[in-house]
Amino acid sequence: MKKRILIVEDEPHIALGLRDALDFEGFAVVVAHRGHEGVRLAREEKPDCIILDLMLPDLNGYKVCEEVRRADRHVPIIMLTARSQEADKVRGLDVGADDYVTKPFSVNELVARIRAIFRRAALMPGAPETFTIGDAEINLSTQTLKRGKAVEPLSFYEVELLRLLHARAGTPVGRDEILSKVWGLDGNPTNRTVDNFVVKLRKKIEPSPDKPVHIITVYGTGYKLAP
Ligand code: CA
Repeated sequence: MKKRILIVEDEPHIALGLRDALDFEGFAVVVAHRGHEGVRLAREEKPDCIILDLMLPDLNGYKVCEEVRRADRHVPIIMLTARSQEADKVRGLDVGADDYVTKPFSVNELVARIRAIFRRAALMPGAPETFTIGDAEINLSTQTLKRGKAVEPLSFYEVELLRLLHARAGTPVGRDEILSKVWGLDGNPTNRTVDNFVVKLRKKIEPSPDKPVHIITVYGTGYKLAP
């Protein structure tokens, strides 16, 4: 069964290039050229992964992401952004995107990320897998975080990042290793993806996110989990 990928992109040459590349890689590809169309196809086609452009003529990528997340909390969403500002990327992650790629991007890198998503998803165990960090209970199977009575969903990469940090609790894990094991990418010291995810996770887990006591920065290295 081919994995299905939805591309939401209004620029014809980018949409076409991506479709051809992903088709060549053996994925089943559906393309939407408008935001509303993307929301509709996400519901109808139930893709395994969505590649979502930020700048769309009718409904921007943030809105599309929010709409898609109402119906599906877990489908991995990779956002394409032409902007270089960190704020845009963080906002994308805040509305439920899992990752972002800045234009112009390498199709090979995007394909590597998609492959990493599917490879890790296939490894997910069926048995319940839970652990606690502070007063938060993490459930890796249901991809949820429970704190008091509140239960909130965790994105694909949040789950994988927590899985890795938890497996190595108490010892520092380098950014390069996190990028390679969670995202399937070669380490790039300028890549802020890991840091952005840590900021998000701290908001969900830490009693005071500005003074983290559970996900601790190890200067010059990466992060360490203190459950
Ligand atoms: Ca666009």
